Amino acid sequence: MSHKQASFYQSVQTNFEKAAALSKHPKGLLAQIGACNSVYQMRFPVKIGNGYEVIEAYRVQHSHHRLPTKGGIRFSHMVNQEEVMALASLMTYKCAIVNVPFGGAKGGVKVSTRQYNAEQLEKITRRYTVELVRKNFIGPGIDVPAPDYGTSSREMAWILDTYSQLRNGELDAAACVTGKPTSQNGIQGRTEATGRGVYYAIRELCNDEKEMAKVGKETGTEGKTIVIQGLGNVGSYTGTICSKEGGMKVIAVSEIEGTIVDPKGIDVAKLIKYRKAKGSIVGFPGTKKLKERNDWVGIDCDVLIPAALESQINKANAKQVKAKIIAEAANGPVTAAAENILLKKGVIILPDMYANAGGVTVSYFEWLKNLSHIRFGRMEKRFDERAYTQLVNKVEAMTGKSISQKERSVLTKGADEVDLVRSGLEETMIDAYNEIVTMMRRKKSVTDWRTAAFLVSLDKVANDYLTMGIFP
Ligand code: GLU
Repeated sequence: MSHKQASFYQSVQTNFEKAAALSKHPKGLLAQIGACNSVYQMRFPVKIGNGYEVIEAYRVQHSHHRLPTKGGIRFSHMVNQEEVMALASLMTYKCAIVNVPFGGAKGGVKVSTRQYNAEQLEKITRRYTVELVRKNFIGPGIDVPAPDYGTSSREMAWILDTYSQLRNGELDAAACVTGKPTSQNGIQGRTEATGRGVYYAIRELCNDEKEMAKVGKETGTEGKTIVIQGLGNVGSYTGTICSKEGGMKVIAVSEIEGTIVDPKGIDVAKLIKYRKAKGSIVGFPGTKKLKERNDWVGIDCDVLIPAALESQINKANAKQVKAKIIAEAANGPVTAAAENILLKKGVIILPDMYANAGGVTVSYFEWLKNLSHIRFGRMEKRFDERAYTQLVNKVEAMTGKSISQKERSVLTKGADEVDLVRSGLEETMIDAYNEIVTMMRRKKSVTDWRTAAFLVSLDKVANDYLTMGIFP
């Protein structure tokens, strides 16, 4: 186990302790909330080429105060037990903050996705699923995985298929995993959900006069500059949505192959296409490459967005940070030690458990869709459209004026699934923002966003335990 990952779990625990010390709940209850309830460590053989390989994998269920437990599955050569424990813990707090009624969990398979072809990855994923089924670690009411770093809807389809084969006839089988392809009982808007949620979180903060006054900035997202580390699913959608819907300017992007900058702004959608074709972001027209890849941390911008892995902003480089706002699109990108340095500098850190909660929020919608066996909007879309049309017709008749066809189609449109998903996600992120801000303004001792977010979720989880009667 490398030192870096061990400290990720310690970092989460340190942050938890900091908040727990300010909470009024009984010590024993807080200790129970902080602990990882079940840790399943497995080793299984997979035939690769002419030989066999022993695959190391995990599933951690952090808290059972609500069921099912929920959280993604990570495929990475850096996976280890403590990393998965840290990630599972964050899922509990994350779900509580956005009022998603699940306990936290996370899975990890220690493989480098670059070293296996699709067929081999399928074998690994299916075998991992069989292990989970055998130990009762997966199911619509038990534990529901989703994508994370190194996995996508493709792996989720393999998981669902394997589960369904073993649980033939189970009516709700589709709800055993989320983040599935839309053709396989997935939901519109899930792929973009984490990035879109990050945008809503940033937007709410930027529209908050009091918070902007603290960092000496104008309100609004328009024209604000951002730097993104990581162009995976989360970084890509965060970048495109922040610029398209928020009018923000992406002035630098960092990836494994290097960091590129363009003060005039980088078109992220075009950059993604470029990278697909050339295999690298370096050389993208109009941009310059920084000498040191890791220098993205010190770029002067309004919002710094780490959207890759944990511990990226740490004790060693925290002093370089010039941004006044950090939005944690990744899980655990700022270590506890780095946070101390940054808070002293007056940096606002929107914590992972809030900023990136859009993914699990839409996973919750997908799970609901699967359990209800009907797509959102199917019943009411046409009915609404007819009612809106009648209204517009009436207004036209009463005023004697008519509106353009374009205006008419906007006004009379019924909601599709994706519209409802986005609306639900936006509502969720705004609600959670207000809950965290209220906590921060109510408790004078709480000055940072992570502690406030922790306290919001600790209250909810503690309340669940108390009303269950486990801690009378
Ligand atoms: N892996 C994502 C996260 O870290 C999504 C989890 C889910 O949808 O269950 O929040």
